[in-house]
Amino acid sequence: METTTATRKLTPKDYKSDIKPVWCPGCGDFSVLSSITKALAELGIPPEQAAVVSGIGCSSRIPAYTSVYGLHGLHGRALPAAIGLKVARPDLTVIAAGGDGDGFSIGGNHFLHACRRNVDMTYIVMDNEVYGMTKGQASPTTEPDWERGKLTPGGPGINPFHPLAVALASGANFIARGFTGDPNYVARLIAEGIRHPGFSFIQVLSPCVTFRPEEREWKKVVRPAPVEPTSDPARAARRLMTDDGFNLGVLFKGDRRPFRPDTSARATVAELEQEFVV
Ligand code: SF4
Ligand code: MG
Repeated sequence: METTTATRKLTPKDYKSDIKPVWCPGCGDFSVLSSITKALAELGIPPEQAAVVSGIGCSSRIPAYTSVYGLHGLHGRALPAAIGLKVARPDLTVIAAGGDGDGFSIGGNHFLHACRRNVDMTYIVMDNEVYGMTKGQASPTTEPDWERGKLTPGGPGINPFHPLAVALASGANFIARGFTGDPNYVARLIAEGIRHPGFSFIQVLSPCVTFRPEEREWKKVVRPAPVEPTSDPARAARRLMTDDGFNLGVLFKGDRRPFRPDTSARATVAELEQEFVV
């Protein structure tokens, strides 16, 4: 009898496409690809029951490297596309993925409202504090004194965006941070985020070895968070007051009610045809 993915245990390989990533050797995004495939295998989600949706950027190429359904869409627009997909197909496991420029600048407004809407999906941001694809400009998470930005000699001079604080304030229901140096740990965070109801946000520190080679040193400064996750937003907010960006782990696991669309109000195709065909 032929063995199919329906009759055998799934492995990370089942979620990889045969397209070879074009990322620079050593880019952290390789590790995140591996973590996503490990998480899906651990959860035993059939490839045809999952989708990865992205915008634009180096990390946003990730859907092409997986075997699940994918959309490599418009810059900054991964979240509305992913939310639309999840609302239309609640049976799918939906992951949105991309970078800090795509997600926090061009897509920043979508990030706020995706957290607020709290649809049951997972958003992974590969944060390298730079626009890599366009060759090294400061992004929303770049520190104010980074002097090598192509458009910001002397440094951007403005305080960086704090993704975890924004996610917490906006209503995300699961908030975590990982580092690409430990792909197994990031895989566990992703699996936990997928399992947790509502909008799960996972920031993964993912070095850009080409335009921010100093980020290779992150491995020396990251550390497990000193405390257990909390379900109390006020306590999570207090923890973030002293967060330097290198504490790894789950910060917040909330019980906010996920968004449920009112499907009874949805028009059928026949009704839409009656409405719009003249
Ligand atoms: Fe990765 Fe940076 Fe190369 Fe883009 S430019 S593939 S982020 S190392
Ligand atoms: Mg980036």
